[in-house]
Amino acid sequence: MPKDFLKDVRDRYDVIVIGSGLGGMTAANVLGRAGYSVLLLEQHYKLGGLATWFKRPGGHIFDISLHGFPVGMVKSCRRYWNREIADRIVQLKNIRFDNPMFSLTTTYDREDFTRLLVQQFGIDPATVRAFFDTARGMNFYDDQQMTVGQLFQRFFPGRDDVIRLLMEPIVYANGSTLEDPAITYGIVFSNFMSKGVYIFEGGTDRLVQLMHDQLRGNGVDVRIRCDVEKILAAGGRVRGVVVNGRTIHASAVVSNANLRSTIFRMVGEQNFDPDFVNQARAVRLNTSSTQVYMALKPGEHVDESTGDLLFSSTARQFRTDLLLSRDITSRTFSFYYPRMRPHARPRYAIVSSTNARYEDWADMPDEEYEASKRDLIETTLDALEQYVPNCRDRIAHVEAATPRTFQHYTQHLAGASFGTKFEGLAVSRALPEQIGGLYHAGSVGIIMSGWLGAINYGVIVANDIDSLLLSQSSGAAPRAVEVS
Ligand SMILES: Cc1cc2nc3c(=O)[nH]c(=O)nc-3n(C[C@H](O)[C@H](O)[C@H](O)COP(=O)(O)OP(=O)(O)OC[C@H]3O[C@@H](n4cnc5c(N)ncnc54)[C@H](O)[C@@H]3O)c2cc1C
Repeated sequence: MPKDFLKDVRDRYDVIVIGSGLGGMTAANVLGRAGYSVLLLEQHYKLGGLATWFKRPGGHIFDISLHGFPVGMVKSCRRYWNREIADRIVQLKNIRFDNPMFSLTTTYDREDFTRLLVQQFGIDPATVRAFFDTARGMNFYDDQQMTVGQLFQRFFPGRDDVIRLLMEPIVYANGSTLEDPAITYGIVFSNFMSKGVYIFEGGTDRLVQLMHDQLRGNGVDVRIRCDVEKILAAGGRVRGVVVNGRTIHASAVVSNANLRSTIFRMVGEQNFDPDFVNQARAVRLNTSSTQVYMALKPGEHVDESTGDLLFSSTARQFRTDLLLSRDITSRTFSFYYPRMRPHARPRYAIVSSTNARYEDWADMPDEEYEASKRDLIETTLDALEQYVPNCRDRIAHVEAATPRTFQHYTQHLAGASFGTKFEGLAVSRALPEQIGGLYHAGSVGIIMSGWLGAINYGVIVANDIDSLLLSQSSGAAPRAVEVS
C-alpha cells in the first residue's frame, strides 16, 4: 500500500503553509512559536526549496544556493530561528573578480570598495561617497522611475569597468538588469556593502536540519511529499487546501510556491477581480540558472587564495544580456573548502553558476538536452583550468543542472531563481485584499528574494496573519508574533 504522507493530519489548522522554502519555513516557525496550529506542506521529499543540497557517493555534498548572503541574515536568524543557526553564519573574506577589464580580490564591503574605486579605478572620493549614500538612502517608497543604468550614468558616466565591478555580483545575486528600477540595485548592494558576504558554516543540510528541529519544537506539523493541488476560496475568504486528494481547512493559507502558479494554478483566476488578474498576468518571472557541480578527489586540494567566490568572465564588455546567453562567457565559481563542513569528511567542492533563460533549454529534445549539458560541463572545466590547474584529472565527480532541473524540483515556473521581477511584490502583497486569509511569502521583486529576503518576507507575512487571527479570535489570544 502506498505510504500516507498525511497520516494523522487534522482536518483544520489555524494556518496552512504551502512550500518549505526559507520564506515558508520562517512563516511557519514564527506562527508556530506564537502558539498557532500550523501545517507545513512540501511537495518534495526534502525541506528547503531552493535552499537545498544533494549528496553523491564518496562523501561529496553540493549546496545549490549557498553562495553568499548579506550580514542581515545573522539578525534575522537569531530573532526568528535561534542562536545556534545565527552563530554559524560566517564571512567569506576572499571575493575575487577576474575579467579582461580588471583582476582583484576584495572583502566586498564599503570600506574596501571605496579603497578600490579611489586607488585602482581613480574615482574621486566625494563621488564614491555620494554614490554609496545614494544607494543606501533608497527605499521602497522612493520614486521608482530611475533605472539601475541611469543611476550608474549619473555617478560613473562612461566607466564600464566601474559599472562591471558594481553590477556583476548583483546581477548574479538577484538577476537584476540595467533596466530594472534603481531601488532593486540600491537595496541589495547596500545590504552587502554594509559588512560583506556571508555563508552558513555547516552547509545547507545542517541549516535545514536545525530549522526542521525547531519547527517541530514549535509544534508545526511538517509533511513532505504533499503536493497541494488547490487552494479553496469561497465568499471572498480562503477555506483551506486540497492536498494528495484530501481537503484540509484553515483560517489562513500562506503559499510559498511561485506567485503565478499560486494565482493561476492553485487558486484559479475566476476567484479574483479582473484587474488583479491582469496585473498578475503582467508579472514577469525572474531568470533561471545553470550550475555545474564539481568535487575534488580525496587528497586533492585547492589553495584558499583561489578565493571563496570568484566572478570570472572572458567577455571584453560588460552587458547584462551577455550574462544570460547560452554562449557562456561569465561564470561565478563558489569554492567550498573543508572548513565549510567541519563535522564532515574533508572534501573540496566547486560550484559554477551562470544566469540562464528557461526558454533556451525548455523545448530541447532529450538527446540535444543531454549533449548541451555535457557541453556546459566541458566548457566549465575549460574555464576552471585557469584557477585549478589539471582540474579534469583531479575531479572525482561532475554534473550539471539547468533551468529545467530547478523547475522540476521546486515547481517554480520557468525554473525562476528569484521568483518574479519587481512588480511581483505588489501583486503578492495584494492577495489578501482579493481573498481574505490568503497570503504569499516567497521570492518576489528582487528585494524579497534570496535567502535574507525570503526569510524576512516570511516574517512580514506571519505578522500579517497574526493580526488577522487575533482580530478574528474570540477565545484566548496566542502570544504576539515578535516582528521588528
Ligand atoms: C542556482 C541558485 C543559486 C542561488 N544562490 C543564492 C545565494 O547565493 N544567495 C541567496 O541569498 N540566494 C540565492 N538564490 C536564491 C534563493 O535560493 C531563493 O531566493 C530562496 O531560497 C527562495 O526561497 P522561497 O522562500 O522563495 O522558496 P523556494 O525556495 O522557492 O521554495 C518554494 C517551495 O515550495 C514548494 N512547492 C511549490 N509548489 C508546491 C505545491 N503545490 N505544494 C507543496 N509545495 C510546493 C517547492 O517544492 C519549494 O520547496 C539562488 C537560487 C538559485 C536557483
